[in-house]
Amino acid sequence: MKDNQKFNTYQTPSWCPGCGNFGIWYALKSAYTELGFDNNDVCMVFGIGCSGNLSNFIKVYGFHSIHGRTLPVASGIKLANHKLNVVATSGDGDGLGIGLGHFIHTCRRNIDITYIIHDNRVYGLTTGQTSPTSPQGFQSKSTPFGVIEQPINPLALAIIQGATFVARGYSGEIDHLTSLIIQAIKHKGFAVIDVLQPCVTFNPNFSYPFYNPRVFKLEDAGHNPEDFNNALKYALDVNNDKIPIGIFYKISKPTYEESSEELRDKPLSEYDISDISISELIEEIRES
Ligand code: SF4
Repeated sequence: MKDNQKFNTYQTPSWCPGCGNFGIWYALKSAYTELGFDNNDVCMVFGIGCSGNLSNFIKVYGFHSIHGRTLPVASGIKLANHKLNVVATSGDGDGLGIGLGHFIHTCRRNIDITYIIHDNRVYGLTTGQTSPTSPQGFQSKSTPFGVIEQPINPLALAIIQGATFVARGYSGEIDHLTSLIIQAIKHKGFAVIDVLQPCVTFNPNFSYPFYNPRVFKLEDAGHNPEDFNNALKYALDVNNDKIPIGIFYKISKPTYEESSEELRDKPLSEYDISDISISELIEEIRES
């Protein structure tokens, strides 16, 4: 057990007993502790869903955004103050359904933020509807005869669209997940971690007894994260009985902030705007 108490709030998590969100919560607090963060060194952005309730249980700067919009909000915060560590989280429904467009565009911009997807393959907060990562044939109250469409593959999408750190974690492997989060935060660029997060209440078929015997660590398999083709091969291999966790892909590339002349030297928050008249600016925009 790590001493990560300073990131606790006065509220006790309200998730169902055994929910995979507990593992992500613990791993995040442990990662911040190991990185030597103070409470004001990080700003988290939360979406809507069971994962979004994390905003009440972790003591850092926070912004509880609207459904599917964690990444635009996180991008805005990072561009305003790129000295701040920015970590966005959302569920698979929030981030890969409603927010899918934002996900793709944030990948291609390579903004230096960390994005954690609580992937339980179901809409949990609304009591168990099919989500974008539910597998074909998945039966729920919204698809009683089984899902027809093929699921979204967040890792393959991220690799193809330009994210520079792409990983899968498992909330049943907390130390491993903590290490992934630390590496993602240290990485310069857009870092995505898709976390296998059991929803024990509404998706019990994809819970610990399913994942425990199947997950294996890519680092133990000798995978080189700079190998694009092999990373994509692992990401696309969804029908195998073995499920890889670890870093699929990691490369170094200039971030959006570094590539922007206005942002390269200092964050927007440090620009002196005392001589700018907002009303004149609005007028100028109206007339243009
Ligand atoms: Fe966790 Fe599922 Fe319960 Fe939500 S409904 S708290 S995801 S177990």
